[in-house]
Amino acid sequence: MDLKYDVVVIGGGPIGGYLSRRFNEFGHSVLIIEEHDEIGRPFQCAGLVNPESMKKVNLHNSILKEIWGARIHSPSGIPVVIGNNSRIRTMSVCRKIFDEGVVLQAIKSGTEILKILSRSYCVEQMVLILGLEGSLKWDVQKK
Ligand SMILES: Cc1cc2nc3c(=O)[nH]c(=O)nc-3n(C[C@H](O)[C@H](O)[C@H](O)COP(=O)(O)OP(=O)(O)OC[C@H]3O[C@@H](n4cnc5c(N)ncnc54)[C@H](O)[C@@H]3O)c2cc1C
Repeated sequence: MDLKYDVVVIGGGPIGGYLSRRFNEFGHSVLIIEEHDEIGRPFQCAGLVNPESMKKVNLHNSILKEIWGARIHSPSGIPVVIGNNSRIRTMSVCRKIFDEGVVLQAIKSGTEILKILSRSYCVEQMVLILGLEGSLKWDVQKK
């Protein structure tokens, strides 16, 4: 199979999905390679997303509960309160809905997805960029 894309993202998680959409928005063609049948399965984590991140994806339908802090009850009976209900610190989300939503945004902006059957695939020529601010960049040429 001969496929040509500006960017190939390995893994259709929330980071891969968000990054793909951003690349699309800058006019690049993107392919996500994902090893699982379903986006958001298996569960990757507990699903706490902070308000700043939520603003970037606007997936409020995935929110299960807004969390302002915690009340910790010690054995001595003295409670310690962290935060207050005037400021939401984080949100508990359904990771399935959240992950799917992020990847769907990428698809809607032009990203394509390839489900691979095994982990052995071959990228013939690529530019590997590490570090979101482009601080590290290598040109990797195969062959
Ligand atoms: C127990 C636990 C609790 C956590 N709780 C939180 C939390 O509350 N809040 C939070 O923000 N973060 C939490 N995290 C971290 C969270 O899992 C990551 O921040 C988040 O999932 C990272 O997103 P990602 O897109 O980079 O990777 P992932 O969500 O891990 O997605 C990677 C994707 O790549 C695919 N993939 C991997 N290797 C390949 C391959 N070789 N070929 C093709 N596809 C591949 C996987 O199938 C997956 O779909 C937690 C992690 C753990 C383990």
